Amino acid sequence: MKKRWITYILQLLLVSSIHADEGMWLLPLIQELNMDKMQEMGLELEAGDIYSLDHPSLKDVIGALDYGGCTAEVISSDGLILTNHHCGVDEIQSHSSPAQDYLTHGFWAMSREEELPNPGKTISFVVRMEDVTEKVLGMVHLEMTEVERESEIDKSSETLISEAVEGTHYEAVVVPLYEGNEYYLVVMETFKDVRLVGAPPESIGRFGGDKDNWEWPRHNADFCMMRIYTGPDGKPADYALENIPYKPANWLPISLSGYEKDDISLVLGFPGRTNRYATSSGIREIKEIENRNRIKIRGEALDLIMEDMGKSDKVRIQYAAKYSRLSNYYKYSIGQNLSLDRLQVIEKRTVQEDLFSHWVSAEEMRQEAYGDILEEINSVISERNMMENALSYLEEMFLLHKTVEVFDFATSAFPFFFQELGYATEKKETTELMDRMKQRSAIFFRDYHPETDQKVASAMMQLYAENVEPLYFPGLFSTIYKDFDGDIDKYIDHLYRKSLFTDPSRFEKFTAKPKFKKLFKDPVFMGSFTMYQTYQQILDEYEELEERFVAARRSYVKAVRDMYPDSIFYPDANSTLRLSYGTVCDYLARDAVSYDYYTTLAGVMEKEDLREREFTVPAKLKQLFEEKNFQPYCQDNTMRVCFLTDLDTTGGNSGSPVLNSRGELIGLNFDGNWESMSGDIIYEPEFQRSICVDIRYILFIVDKFAGAHQLIEEMDIHD
Ligand code: GLU
Repeated sequence: MKKRWITYILQLLLVSSIHADEGMWLLPLIQELNMDKMQEMGLELEAGDIYSLDHPSLKDVIGALDYGGCTAEVISSDGLILTNHHCGVDEIQSHSSPAQDYLTHGFWAMSREEELPNPGKTISFVVRMEDVTEKVLGMVHLEMTEVERESEIDKSSETLISEAVEGTHYEAVVVPLYEGNEYYLVVMETFKDVRLVGAPPESIGRFGGDKDNWEWPRHNADFCMMRIYTGPDGKPADYALENIPYKPANWLPISLSGYEKDDISLVLGFPGRTNRYATSSGIREIKEIENRNRIKIRGEALDLIMEDMGKSDKVRIQYAAKYSRLSNYYKYSIGQNLSLDRLQVIEKRTVQEDLFSHWVSAEEMRQEAYGDILEEINSVISERNMMENALSYLEEMFLLHKTVEVFDFATSAFPFFFQELGYATEKKETTELMDRMKQRSAIFFRDYHPETDQKVASAMMQLYAENVEPLYFPGLFSTIYKDFDGDIDKYIDHLYRKSLFTDPSRFEKFTAKPKFKKLFKDPVFMGSFTMYQTYQQILDEYEELEERFVAARRSYVKAVRDMYPDSIFYPDANSTLRLSYGTVCDYLARDAVSYDYYTTLAGVMEKEDLREREFTVPAKLKQLFEEKNFQPYCQDNTMRVCFLTDLDTTGGNSGSPVLNSRGELIGLNFDGNWESMSGDIIYEPEFQRSICVDIRYILFIVDKFAGAHQLIEEMDIHD
């Protein structure tokens, strides 16, 4: 038994020492930490080509869409940007209708005038990043409470931010790294006029749909193109007719020469969130609360939404983007829970924690500093169990992920309501408040089908009642019991029939003559209000636990880094710009199942299934396949579609450029694979793969499928 234990530890240590491709690295540190290794692997760039404050570098062409969530990159001197189809689906959908269905047929602006504006869409580029740990933590000391510490950090961050942006149009943030052991200042330039230029039909961009999502082999060109516009002075500006295409200092060159297995590749982007320092108890919490609840909630809701989408084109278009947003992380959570079990992630973390405890107990000073942190983390996690459960239900269903839509929409009346109650800090004209409500309602009602939302609301309310402690039932449940004999369906029916938030004409009447008392009587408004009350009540109860948790996690991460002084650690993803490097590679998925590292257009034809919308191949693509006119986009006469790398990526990297040894664009990152869905917690070198569209397939679609030659011409494409 003992021997097996030691062998296991040695294996673990061995794996972490031979594997070099894990890591989401901060750009200012790559010279010091990664350059030698990358050049050994074949990289022909210098650190200054990737991140420089003196001359144009890669950092200038990689942008975060909407302040994080997706990445896009500049690919022409006229501000053309490339990202995933699933990152632009909101915009593609918002311009679609049954008569002009860009989701089904694709959209291509054949001139600049046809490019479609998207109010609210933004892209931000890093101007500079700076380690400000000493400045932020300079006045912080051990005797401080968490609240005092936080307020000190906020104070110094504010000063740093205002110094950084003074006299500029830049924005800045100070972000914690390594759970608050270090801090970085990030200065960004944000552009606010981003127009839709082109998108393939879903039958190409989302070919394989939910069935193929998070899996390999893939056969879709998950891309769309947009263009950044600036004011006539070249500076970021809100949408205006006189705006001009952005003139960047540099843009990504595109390579037609492709890749071979084992070639080095890089990805730069804005990964959103990883949990690489989670404890075994934290992983169990993710598995049993966050993932389990999400699977149950979204599974039920998605079936109901799909039922209605199948019946009407109008509803299909209205719910396309909402559906794929919900289904994406629904399937992710299923896959993650399976991978956590299959790869024994909790067990592996427990072994690491045993080693940690052993290391702590070996020295008295360590015992004093870190002796009880694991226990503290574990006990907070167990104490907050019921609250986490209720929070996850409230957030998934109503307040954050909006599985039920209308309760979130009702918050559009909160500013008016609170102002009338006398709680506004800054008094606004009622007309201004109503205008804002009307603006929000235009988008809401455009994509709203009350019958669908009502069905989902009934099912969700039922699930809430069955799975959350009554202690955390919002006030609306007393109405259900008192006035509707506990009949949830009856209550929901009343709500949708009466509320001003479920019907555009009732809503319009209200905004034309706003009466504060009407909100008191509105069942959706009051329902939403009581949900927020419950949410706040939980957060208040949670506060002390959260402070203990944050402090313990910070020392735990510090201790783990102290424990391995010779190892280089990278901070968890937090939507800051990162680089990951690795190779193009295949993998052995399971016993006797090995996957090749690229797919081809022949595979699209093989997957065609006329009975399933998601596996329908456009006639034009079939014709192009038959004609075999792939030049100059093929390799060995074959049209490659997607390929694999072992780059370390996560959500937020969607749309990130995949580059070759010369820093040229060879692909577009868009997904991860089923065998490593626990990769956000532990990177598994044998299994973790990022899935990329071959840039040549994208160009083939733009050029030969869409005939958008003007876009090909403005790009910098070479062999
Ligand atoms: N699976 C996602 C999709 O193709 C992308 C990956 C992500 O969101 O991280 O929709």
